[in-house]
Amino acid sequence: MVGADGQLPLPWLGKPLQDALRTQRGHALLVYGAQGTGQFELSLCLAQAWLCEAGEGAQKPCGTCASCHLVQARSHPDLLVLVPEALRESLGWGSADDGDEDKSSKAKPSKEIKVEAVRTAVGFAQSTSARGKAKVVVVHPAERMNAISANTLLKTLEEPPGIARFVLSCGAPDALLPTIRSRCQAVALGLPAADVASAWLAQHKVAQPDVMLAAAGGQPLEALAWVQEGIDAVSWTRFPKQVAGGEAAPVAGWPLPVLIEALQKLCHDAMCLASGAPPRYFPPAALPTGAALPALAAWSKALRDAQRHADHPWNMPVMAESLVLQAAQALKSPLATKPPSVHSAR
Ligand SMILES: [Zn+2]
Repeated sequence: MVGADGQLPLPWLGKPLQDALRTQRGHALLVYGAQGTGQFELSLCLAQAWLCEAGEGAQKPCGTCASCHLVQARSHPDLLVLVPEALRESLGWGSADDGDEDKSSKAKPSKEIKVEAVRTAVGFAQSTSARGKAKVVVVHPAERMNAISANTLLKTLEEPPGIARFVLSCGAPDALLPTIRSRCQAVALGLPAADVASAWLAQHKVAQPDVMLAAAGGQPLEALAWVQEGIDAVSWTRFPKQVAGGEAAPVAGWPLPVLIEALQKLCHDAMCLASGAPPRYFPPAALPTGAALPALAAWSKALRDAQRHADHPWNMPVMAESLVLQAAQALKSPLATKPPSVHSAR
């Protein structure tokens, strides 16, 4: 959201925010784009702008009116932010009183947006606005609604009560019900300019921000999250040759989904090199050469299989070793060797 100093939460959101406010016609927007570019932050800025009491036609929320202060304090009576339990802590948003929380339960927090929470949001949207501007519901990430949750929201999106407005934030619009998509005005959030994103990463004390930005496919929030996981430019640049050499120890502590993603990026870049194209995620000098396309293609498929099971509670050091061995086989294979077994990662 826009802070009390009037600053945007992310420097590249100014233009998308302005465009969305200028072209907005309906009562529901769908902000979509690559994860890690700030969809949630843009959605909150939109909500804040609709609730801002500084005057009509502004290009962003003022940050200083009573309403903006309430949004900053996460206590605006006309704003409801709907996120899965599993994201509440990291985002610092989400109400605890939506009826689906069992504090005595040891169960893992849900990654889904549950139907009970959506029902609460629907009731909220139908209630009277406390400050008279609007009732705003932000749903993030919208693809985490299961079919029942989505259908519950759909009815309200079709016939929105009075001054209710919705912002759905989404990294995978294809995963949404087509009926949900068709009720929303789409707002695309593209990758920020590399220089702006790198400067932002540098402000957040990320060393060699260009390397980390490329590692994250141009998504600065993702790059920052990786650095916070302990993956910096030095470890990223060393990664390809360590993996090609079969060294699993340096990556044994990486979260499995991150390791699999890093291997997929390495596989992608090795394929680029093997077919004479420039790599995308790693500095060219960091990459091992000489891998053959058939072996890389088989490895790519094996990684997709592994990704489907990335949430399984594997024994991580064993899993990392298995994945690295598989990678080493694929990367070192001279032209005529057999592709690695697709099951060797399990
Ligand atoms: Zn304001």
